[in-house]
Amino acid sequence: MARQALPLIDNTYTILHSLNPATTALPQAQQAHAQILKTGLSNHTHLTTKLLTLYANHHQFSDANLVLDSISNPDAFSFSALISACSKSNRFNHALHLLHQMISHGLLPDNFVFPSTLKACAGLSALRIGQQIHKLVNVTGFATDSFVQSSLVHLYVKCGEMCDARQVFSRMTERNVVSWSAMVAGYARRGYIDEAMELFDEMRASGVEPNSVSWNGLIAGINSNGYLNESLALLQKMHKQGFKPDGTSISSVLPTVGDLEDLVSGVQIHGYLTKQGFGSYACVISALVDMYGKCGCTTEMLQVFDEMGQLDVGSCNALVSGFSRNGLVDDALRAFRQFEGRGIELNVISWTSMVACCVQNGKDIEALELFREMQFVGIEPNSVTIPCLLPACANIAALMHGKAVHCFSLRRGVFGDLYVGSALIDMYAKCGRIGYARHVFNTMPSKNVVSWNAIVGGYAMHGKAEEAMEVFQLMKSSGQKPDFITFTCVLSACSQTGLAEQGWYYFNSMSREYGIKARTEHYACMVSLLSRIGKLEEAYAMIKEMPTEPDACIWGALLSSCRVHGNMSLAEIAAEKLFKLEPRNAGNYVLLSNIYAAKGMWDGVDRVRDVMKRMGLRKNPGCSWIELKNTVHTLLAGDKSHPQMTQILERLDSLGMEMKKSGLLPNTNFVLQDVEEQEKEHILCGHSEKLAIGLGLLNTRPGTPLRVIKNLRTCGDCHAAIKFISSFEGREIFIRDTNRFHHFKDGVCSCGDYW
Ligand code: ZN
Ligand code: ZN
Repeated sequence: MARQALPLIDNTYTILHSLNPATTALPQAQQAHAQILKTGLSNHTHLTTKLLTLYANHHQFSDANLVLDSISNPDAFSFSALISACSKSNRFNHALHLLHQMISHGLLPDNFVFPSTLKACAGLSALRIGQQIHKLVNVTGFATDSFVQSSLVHLYVKCGEMCDARQVFSRMTERNVVSWSAMVAGYARRGYIDEAMELFDEMRASGVEPNSVSWNGLIAGINSNGYLNESLALLQKMHKQGFKPDGTSISSVLPTVGDLEDLVSGVQIHGYLTKQGFGSYACVISALVDMYGKCGCTTEMLQVFDEMGQLDVGSCNALVSGFSRNGLVDDALRAFRQFEGRGIELNVISWTSMVACCVQNGKDIEALELFREMQFVGIEPNSVTIPCLLPACANIAALMHGKAVHCFSLRRGVFGDLYVGSALIDMYAKCGRIGYARHVFNTMPSKNVVSWNAIVGGYAMHGKAEEAMEVFQLMKSSGQKPDFITFTCVLSACSQTGLAEQGWYYFNSMSREYGIKARTEHYACMVSLLSRIGKLEEAYAMIKEMPTEPDACIWGALLSSCRVHGNMSLAEIAAEKLFKLEPRNAGNYVLLSNIYAAKGMWDGVDRVRDVMKRMGLRKNPGCSWIELKNTVHTLLAGDKSHPQMTQILERLDSLGMEMKKSGLLPNTNFVLQDVEEQEKEHILCGHSEKLAIGLGLLNTRPGTPLRVIKNLRTCGDCHAAIKFISSFEGREIFIRDTNRFHHFKDGVCSCGDYW
């Protein structure tokens, strides 16, 4: 049976009636939409606007947009409905885009659209657009509307423009508790404590009674500026005046208690919370867990956590960061896995803090695995996750992983974030790709001192002093002020290349031009620089004239230089100081014993060995990493566990024979740096960087460059052997040791045999 079309007017009425924004479900809306299209009613603006509102209420913004675009003559109401819905569901960019569209249709915003779009500007901290809208408010005559006024106050407070906020506020016709509280909290948060308190009193004098939001805003704001005592006093005042501080007001104070490691106040607040019966609130528990974690009380932290009835994700995150902060990475991982197993909906903060925890505690491979896993379970990493993860790629030179993270950040639009960009520069530099690092730097949409330092530091690490100085000049002409880290980077670049004149220039201009006082790290660079060019006595004189007590860095720099120049008397002075400053650092003893060995002073070697034995010190095990086909291989000195170890040793043996044939004998002096008695030949083959190179030679095509990271300073024997391998095998080899980059090519190293 053919259905007869209803007369048009009835149809409109039926559809219109069926669209109640409060009750209509999405499928009904879609049905109505289909009917509107079928019956050619799309030009009925009232109907389509209603449909649009429905879609917006159901968060079907793409459908709502389609409807809007289909209206040939949209009116202000069509836009206003959608803008308000967008703003309500925090789609701020979209709301502002719609405002732009609305204005280009010749329609003016009204007292509904202004508050929604101003809220969007506040949400995005888009001050400039907000100011333009403010101008529009003035010309359209809505400047006296109380909703518009309070939205403007909110915007300026959010953007920290307290003067503008105050101006709008003073002209407000109706000042209610909400706008008063916003102003008070705004001043308090920006650290204008006196203004905040004054305004708070003014508010009461004008007959507006503060509510708990006003108190909380004031307390939280004051507290976030580190005024712990003031905020505690306010809490008491609030209590005395009959306002019972609630869980929110008290837990806002706890982060500062933790930051100041003020355990006494923390325990008092904990007691108060329990007495008042706030102990079971999720926000209170996570704040307590966080506070105890920051104060280093992991037992108390666990106790609070365990007493909690229902697990919530905030407290779980606080527990993981608490463990991490105290170096308990295994506990953090275990807790994290338990939360997963118990079905807690872990969010991007949980995953990011777990990634950060692994990176901070030397578990780089685990961090990379977590990053992969988090995406696998559908958690989108954000602009905080990326800078947390990238140091892991840098630490173990996982270039492929680092590149993948780079692509990810481009795809997800977080590349423009300053910290993402700077972390990428650092990662590429540490993975031996200074060219990529520069490319990232050049393409960054905006830069701050961290990004400039990352690229200058990258060049310094690679011993490229010319480039480091050139970027420093660029930085100056761009108007960016250098900080003390910038100077550390430039000076270290000069010291690695022996540029004494330039070094002195930067060292002196630091305080003269920029008012930055030289710190120990700057002196350490100068000591290395002077030592490098053989001016050891001058370096020692500089140390003696330092305004502050020289630290281990300074004496370490001098001792290393003494090894290169074979200066025994200064070496003993530096070592003596170092043994006092860092009695348990095996590296210093090994370095001194190397210097004795190089001079053939075997009794000295024996003496150092005895001291180490007596103190139970062992040399850190050498460890190297090489990335092959997306997998990072870890090789330990003398460790035979790698499946290809037999082939690696065979390959190194035959290279050793070739080396002997060519007249380059291995330098067995350096064997003595392993104070433990082991067979010399075995140790020579067993140094981890050579094992890594052996593995690289076996698993890559001829001519492929090899990139290795080592956790200790590379030894003279390995250095000589790698120079030979680079020419014999025709490979470029990059080694990053604890000090610097060595770029071996055609039998020569970029460090000029000075490291
Ligand atoms: Zn070695
Ligand atoms: Zn070198």
